[in-house]
Amino acid sequence: MKLHEYQAKGIFADAGLPVPDSRLASTVEETVEAADAVGYPVAVKAQVQVGGRGKAGGIELVDNAEEARAAAESILGMDLKGLHVDRVLVEEAVDFVNELYVGVTMDRTEGEPVAMVSTQGGVNIEEVAAETPEAIAREHVDPALGLQPYEARRVVFDAGVDREVATDVSRVLTTLYDLWAEKDATEIEVNPVMVTGDGEVVCADAVMNIDDDALFRHPDLAEMEEEAAGDELEAKANEYGFDYVRLSGNVGIIGNGAGLVMATLDLVDYFGGQPANFLDIGGGAKAERVTNALDMVFSDENVDSVVFNIFGGITRGDEVAKGINEALEAFDEIPKPVVVRLAGTNAAEGMEILNTDLVTVEKTLEDAVERAVSYAEDNE
Ligand code: GDP
Ligand code: MN
Repeated sequence: MKLHEYQAKGIFADAGLPVPDSRLASTVEETVEAADAVGYPVAVKAQVQVGGRGKAGGIELVDNAEEARAAAESILGMDLKGLHVDRVLVEEAVDFVNELYVGVTMDRTEGEPVAMVSTQGGVNIEEVAAETPEAIAREHVDPALGLQPYEARRVVFDAGVDREVATDVSRVLTTLYDLWAEKDATEIEVNPVMVTGDGEVVCADAVMNIDDDALFRHPDLAEMEEEAAGDELEAKANEYGFDYVRLSGNVGIIGNGAGLVMATLDLVDYFGGQPANFLDIGGGAKAERVTNALDMVFSDENVDSVVFNIFGGITRGDEVAKGINEALEAFDEIPKPVVVRLAGTNAAEGMEILNTDLVTVEKTLEDAVERAVSYAEDNE
């Protein structure tokens, strides 16, 4: 779960981190009011969960109410890398001399958290990481001890941060690490941490990803999830309790089990199609779950055909087949062709039961996927 900038900054502020004064606005009028209240100059920042908003025109610095209005008019409602902007953060602008990169993430290779600092922060950090990885200093952390102040200072000095601000930057880093651990974050990134001419240190951006599997112990963060789910279908998936990822193709995929769905995705690609989504409905395939899953893929405008791939284990094939029939019978009209492949326990019984007026049944996964891909091509 990825938080919005304004949500992450709220958490930062509660933890005592230096963040600029800011307000959230969702209309042009609110933006101007917020800007007046914060005091010019302000930065008007699109609240969507993609990086690189600055380069994509989602951030404007303004000096007066007139400019704030113009910025709000251009940013609110804009399409930023495929996401609709419906809110902006109106934030006190920072007059910086340096932009640092500061982050905490899990180093999967080392099996330990790692704290990172670079003096080459700002909008080009991806290039820095790719071309001059040595410009990012790293310090691994023993999770039992947490990031110790001396370790934070070491990585800050290794990165070449100015002596005058090193203590403050180290403090930011240890606080970020503590938040990372406390909130079960998978990643926290502040790019940039701005350093002003007076040697002030300010967290000017905030990226925070929370481990979905730990949300049960953070009810406050779970509450933010609905707001944070920018994608309507992803929000729906949360509600239904499905694992769902929207992809860019047109073949809808439903399966039970992450590995099975991944394999189906690969096969769609192999047969020259493009998957529209990853959708794992998990164990069991009661009619209600099947209905919800179909509702999800059917309501995705990009989907031209659907492949349903079920492997019966504890869930028996005949039960799944009944669920699929029941679910499809509830639709007045099947909006997109559905191909079903059943395997495993009671698969033969299941295939007997399936209503072939409503679905196409294939014996092998290859045949099912190939057919779904060809239906999608016909339907394009
Ligand atoms: P991102 O592009 O989505 O990562 O958004 P950021 O919040 O990191 O902003 C991108 C860039 O916009 C920063 O690196 C700054 O160069 C600029 N920027 C953002 N906020 C301010 C601000 O308050 N003052 C100034 N001068 N520049 C800002
Ligand atoms: Mn940034």
